[in-house]
Amino acid sequence: MNQRVKKIAPKLSPLIIPKQFTISEKIKDEIFEKIKTKSKKSKTNFKCFYCEKKENIEEEFNELKIQLIFEIDWKKSQYKFIEPRFVCEKCSQLLDLNGFILRSFSSLERNSTEIENLIEHFFQVNSIDQNLNQNDLLTLFQECYSLSFSLFILSSANPSLIFVSKEGEKIENSEKLIELSLNNENLNEKKEFETKKKVNPKNKRRKRNFNQKK
Ligand SMILES: [Zn+2]
Repeated sequence: MNQRVKKIAPKLSPLIIPKQFTISEKIKDEIFEKIKTKSKKSKTNFKCFYCEKKENIEEEFNELKIQLIFEIDWKKSQYKFIEPRFVCEKCSQLLDLNGFILRSFSSLERNSTEIENLIEHFFQVNSIDQNLNQNDLLTLFQECYSLSFSLFILSSANPSLIFVSKEGEKIENSEKLIELSLNNENLNEKKEFETKKKVNPKNKRRKRNFNQKK
């Protein structure tokens, strides 16, 4: 299931946050405030991790938000904290699995341009050819979100999942999560470095093998 989601949406797919690992708004706000303060000091231009929409940090954060990114390692039963990332409003709404599902239900009765725009953004970010048949496109989109929702239900019912850092270190409390978030240097600047690294043929090969497994 997870592989299928990655295949449909290699870059941006909804975040799966198991119920038992829901982080309170208060802790998120605390992390975001600290990151903003730290980022302002570095006076850098930041951009959305996913679609690269740019924002000048000195003009305050008009639209860019900070999103904590997690991934589930199903084999190791680990819920892994990856890093905080700057994201634009549209990408943020697409990452929010439950929020998006609620939003699309509530927009069924009124004008759904907002949802259409979001879906279009999803295709752009994931480099999905929008010349495909409209029904096929919608089916792909729905498949991605319904599979993610199934993964959310599965992970929420899994008592053996443990909360760890990227390095596999157990995260016991919110202080640890705050510390890890702030230690993540330069946020999205790091991403550019990673992108460059991917050009390395070794990495390319590894990626291809991963896709073949499916
Ligand atoms: Zn974006």
